[in-house]
Amino acid sequence: MLKGEKSVRGGIEDLLCPFTDMFITQGSGGSVSHKGTKAMDVRGLQIGVRYPYYAPCKVRCVKVYPESGQVMWQSVDKVRYADGTIDYVTFMTAHDNSLDSFVGQIVEQGAQLGNMGNKGNASGVHCHIEVSRGSDTTWMINKYGIYSFKNEIEFEEAFFMNNTNIISGKGAWKYTDSIIVVEGSPNRNYANLDPKISSWRVYDLHVKPVAKNAKGKLNPKKFGGLTYYIYSYMDQGTTAEIETADFGRVKIYIVNENCKITIDNPLYQYGNY
Ligand SMILES: [Zn+2]
Repeated sequence: MLKGEKSVRGGIEDLLCPFTDMFITQGSGGSVSHKGTKAMDVRGLQIGVRYPYYAPCKVRCVKVYPESGQVMWQSVDKVRYADGTIDYVTFMTAHDNSLDSFVGQIVEQGAQLGNMGNKGNASGVHCHIEVSRGSDTTWMINKYGIYSFKNEIEFEEAFFMNNTNIISGKGAWKYTDSIIVVEGSPNRNYANLDPKISSWRVYDLHVKPVAKNAKGKLNPKKFGGLTYYIYSYMDQGTTAEIETADFGRVKIYIVNENCKITIDNPLYQYGNY
C-alpha cells in the first residue's frame, strides 16, 4: 500500500499490505528465527533504510514490547481478508527503533504505523510481521522455543497487495479485484467455479482436504460454471463449506485462480445459492 491509502467496500475495510516496497528476507516457516511460525521479515528497496510502513486497516495498539520495538495491533472493526473472509485481525510488528506506540493508540488505515528497524533480535533493518485470524491475542511459545500466535495465518491469506511493489518473495498474492463486493450488501459470500474446469474435488467436512480423501467431483464445465453459497470458511480459509445436490454438505478448495469469491454477486446460473 501507499502512504494514506484507504480501501473500504460495502462498509468494510480491505486489509492492505502495510509495505510499499517488499523484499522478503525470511519467510513463513523460515529456518532461522521463524521455525514453526508464519512470520515474515520484510525490508524495503535499499538495505539498511528504516522505511515507514502503514496501518493495513484501522487498528488499536493492544500490547507494546519496548525492548524489541514490538507492537501487537488489532483491528477496531471486522475487516476483509485477501481470501475473502471477514473477521477481526490481530498482528505483530517488531524491530522499530523509533517506537512511540502506546496501548490504546488508534491508527487509521493508511496512516504510519512504524518504521523498519533492527531493535531486539535482528540482524538487519526490517519489519518482522505475523498475523492472527480473529481477535484472540494468545502469544505462545512453540516447540522450537519461538513465540507466535495461536491462530497464525499466512501473510498472503491476510493482505491485499494493491500498490505494493514486490521486489523479492513468492506467494499467491491477491488484489482487491479478486474479491467482488456489491455496495450495501448483507455480505453473502459465494464460491464461483470457472466453466473451463471439468473436475473440482469435494471433501467431507471433517477430513483433511487431500486428494485421497476426496468424496467426489463437481463438474463446472458441464453447467457453464457453478456457484455455491459459502456457509463457512474452513482449514484456515483455504476451503469453504457448501451444499451440493449430489454430495450434501461438503467442503471445496477456494484458494485457486479458477475459484472466484464474490460477495452478494453469484456469477453462474447453476450450483446452490
Ligand atoms: Zn522475523
